[in-house]
Amino acid sequence: MAISTTNPATGKLHKSFEPLKATEIATKLDLAQQAFAKHRKTSFAERAELVRNCAEVLEKNKEAFASIMTLEMGKTYKSALAEVKKCTWVCNFYAEHAAEFLADVHVETDGSQSFVSYQPLGIILAVMPWNFPFWQVFRFAAPALMAGNVALLKHASNVPQCALAIEEVFQKAGFPQGVFQTLLIGASQVADIIADDRVKAATLTGSEPAGASLAAAAGKQIKKVVLELGGSDPFIVLESADIEAAVSTGITARMLNNGQSCIAAKRFIVAESVADKFEKLLLEKFKALKVGDPMEADTDIGPLATSSILKELDQQVQACRDAGAKVLIGGKPLSQGSEGSGNFYPPTIVKDIPLDNPIAQEEFFGPVALLFRVRDIDAAIELANATPFGLGASAWTTDPEEQKRLIKEIEAGAVFINGLVKSDPRLPFGGIKRSGYGRELSIQGIHEFVNVKTVWVK
Ligand code: NAP
Repeated sequence: MAISTTNPATGKLHKSFEPLKATEIATKLDLAQQAFAKHRKTSFAERAELVRNCAEVLEKNKEAFASIMTLEMGKTYKSALAEVKKCTWVCNFYAEHAAEFLADVHVETDGSQSFVSYQPLGIILAVMPWNFPFWQVFRFAAPALMAGNVALLKHASNVPQCALAIEEVFQKAGFPQGVFQTLLIGASQVADIIADDRVKAATLTGSEPAGASLAAAAGKQIKKVVLELGGSDPFIVLESADIEAAVSTGITARMLNNGQSCIAAKRFIVAESVADKFEKLLLEKFKALKVGDPMEADTDIGPLATSSILKELDQQVQACRDAGAKVLIGGKPLSQGSEGSGNFYPPTIVKDIPLDNPIAQEEFFGPVALLFRVRDIDAAIELANATPFGLGASAWTTDPEEQKRLIKEIEAGAVFINGLVKSDPRLPFGGIKRSGYGRELSIQGIHEFVNVKTVWVK
């Protein structure tokens, strides 16, 4: 994939970038290594000041950053502004809490003293996706840098200007050269970087094939990775649920980021007794959603990020039809994904997908809701778990016994009861099964890229 900015709302190519050559990458690795030697010796207070500065730089330039995001990947401008805001939150959160999360933990043993000390690892490579082009990077970088590591960012090839803008945030915040660097490189250049002795670990947020490829390359070098991969998350609605609240949250959950979020509600699993009501309300509200120019304040759904995502989504909906499913609304691209037209797809509801068809298990990355009806909670849990993924589930019921069962029995990295699945710096975030491993955010996130060193003194 070429490293370039193409406006998904128009299909127009704005700017292309040459990938870095091996010699340029080597220079950046040298710089990162030199920066680590100094950065690891700084105090938490010094790091916190710089990370807080990042939050200020983000806040001051939020309109400019939001515009770049909308231009490069099509999210609505209002949601891009909210994303910048969330990045300031994660910066301030780790600036405030890193010292406490990484404080020595004393343990009584036969030594005169023994304790656990958390120490930085060195250069961490971050391979990031385009869908939350600022947030994904800052939720990795704020804890990694607070822990004393330095970072190299390989961003998705369709958001190079976001990648460069993020590097500038760290420079403007006052971080020394080399602590955070963007590498404009293609996916095929990643394996060589992870093989370099100076790179100690990597994190990847993206698709399953990309995660598997990075994990294999890192595995060969015995290096740790954190993987945040795809999902086909269930949104379960049982009989006692507040249906109106469930529908309205369900729409937010499905349409977030023009439907291109890993933790979007992708499969709506509804108890038979309330399914007619749920379906009718969902359909009414889908009809009212406005698809259009992502810069307009009243637009609900902008274009999909690339023409290939548009084509893939179209093929998946077609595969549902071929399998005998019913399309209640939408179901055909609104534009052709070509220059001059953009990548627009309408809000779509598909129901009655045969459960034994493999399409029922796939991730739909766009504004398409899959609707399933189930007999009871047993069938709901069985269907929720009938996917290779396990990221975040939302489940709606007011019955405390049902809540307990859902919390225990759903196979996912997170379960939200009567609410939207969302990431929050205070809570760990990550998946199980083919959604990946490791955690970001909270205390668990900052512990991923540290040497948990055991110290014992006679
Ligand atoms: P993608 O194609 O996997 O790209 C993600 C990143 O990986 C990009 O930087 C990409 O670079 C790079 N990449 C691709 N193939 C690679 C390889 N073989 N080796 C090394 N790097 C490689 O994913 P996407 O389609 O952009 O993003 C959508 C997916 O990400 C969805 O499945 C979504 O659910 C998942 N996601 C998960 C989370 C989470 O937190 N769990 C969050 C957001 C998104 P290029 O752009 O140069 O190809």
